[in-house]
Amino acid sequence: MKKTIRDYNLNNKKVIIRCDFNVPVENEEIADDNRIVEAIPTIKYAVENNAKVILLSHFGRVKEEKDKKTNSLIIVAERLRQLLKKEVTFIPYTSGIEVDTAIKKMMSGDIIMLENTRFEDLDNGKESNNDSELGKYWASLGDIFINDAYGASHRAHASTVGIPTYLPSGTGFLVEKEINVLTNIVKDPKHPFTVILGGSKVKDKIGVINNLVNKADKILIGGGMSYTFIKALGYEIGTSLLDESSLDFCKEILTKYKDKIIIPKDVIVTKEFSPTATSRATDIDKIVYNEMGMDIGPQTVVAYSSILRNSKTIFWNGPVGVFEFDRFAVGTRKLCDVLSKTDAITIMGGGDIGAAVTKFGYKDKVTRVSTGGGATLMFLEGKKLPGIEIVSNK
Ligand code: AMP
Repeated sequence: MKKTIRDYNLNNKKVIIRCDFNVPVENEEIADDNRIVEAIPTIKYAVENNAKVILLSHFGRVKEEKDKKTNSLIIVAERLRQLLKKEVTFIPYTSGIEVDTAIKKMMSGDIIMLENTRFEDLDNGKESNNDSELGKYWASLGDIFINDAYGASHRAHASTVGIPTYLPSGTGFLVEKEINVLTNIVKDPKHPFTVILGGSKVKDKIGVINNLVNKADKILIGGGMSYTFIKALGYEIGTSLLDESSLDFCKEILTKYKDKIIIPKDVIVTKEFSPTATSRATDIDKIVYNEMGMDIGPQTVVAYSSILRNSKTIFWNGPVGVFEFDRFAVGTRKLCDVLSKTDAITIMGGGDIGAAVTKFGYKDKVTRVSTGGGATLMFLEGKKLPGIEIVSNK
C-alpha cells in the first residue's frame, strides 16, 4: 500500500504538492478549471494541518523561450486564489534565490506556487528527462512530497519521480480517488461490464483492448478507430481514418472475440471534413470510395444503447464521432444521455471524452470523469504508473 497525505504529520512541515494544473486555455482565459477544482481537497487539508504548502505543476509545452509567455501558471494561481478564498503567492521562477527566499519566509498555512516546471525543459529538457540534479534541488525545498498530479503520473519527470526519489512521499486525495475508481472496475467490476472505445487511433488502444478483453463482457468500438476494424472485415472505408499498422491486430481480435468486440453496423459519412458538410447514414458495407466516416449511425446508436442500458459497469474512452462538429456529435451525445440515465457505474476517461461529456453537460450525471488521459490508458493497459510506483510504501 502506498502512503497517503494522511500518513504524515504536516504540522509546520514544508509540503511539496505536485498538482496537474494543465488546464485548457482559450483566448488567454482558463476554459475549464476542473483540474484546479479537483486539486483543492488536498491543498485545503495541507493548509488546515498547518503545512507550508509549495505547489508545483507543468502547464502546456515549453520548447522555446517564447512559449514561456503563453504557458505561465500565473493564471492558475489567480484562479486558485478565488476558489480557496486565500492568498496564493505566485513565484515566477522554478529555481534560484527568489524561490529559496520565498520559502524561507513561509509561515504555517501559507501557500506558494512556483512557475511551470516545464520552464526547466529549456535547459536540456531537465524536467521531462528527469534530471537528477533538478529532482534533488526541488526535493531540497521541502520535507514531504505529495503526488496529487494524477494526469501526470504516467510520466517519469523530475517533478513527478525525481522529487520523491529523495523525499518521504504520499499520494493526495485526487490520486487516491482516481486509482480507487479504476482499480475497482479492473479488479472487480459489476457485470455486465461494457467498455466503449472511440477516438482516433487503434494503435493507442491496443494495450487497453488486450488487457480488458478478458475482463469486459462487451467492447463497443466507435470513432475514427472503427474504420480500421471495418477495413479489417474487408469493406471499403473510402477516405475514413485508417491505421494501417493495426489492421492485423484488428483482424485477429475480431476473429478471436467475435461476440465481444462489437463494431458499428452503420455510420455517418461525408465527402469533406467540415462542420457544414452534407452527410448520409449508411451500412458499413456500402461506404463509397470518396466518403469519410464521421460518426456512428442511428442503428448503431440503438444497438449500443441497448447494451449500455443492460450494463452494470461502463468505462468509456474516446468519442465515437467528430464531436467537435455538432452535426457529427450525435452518436457521442446520445450515448452520453444513455449513460446519464443508467444505474450503472459510469467512468469516462482518457483522450477527449472528458471534453465531450463536459461540452454536452453530462459531466455531473456520470459516476466519474477522470482527470487523466494518458495515465488512465496506461493504468487500463495493466501497467504501473511511475509517478505512483515511486511513492513511499506503508
Ligand atoms: P482520442 O484523443 O484518441 O480520444 O481522439 C479524439 C479525437 O478523435 C477527437 O478529436 C475526434 O474528433 C476524433 N474522431 C472521432 N471520430 C472520428 C472520425 N470518425 N474520424 C476522424 N476523427 C474522429
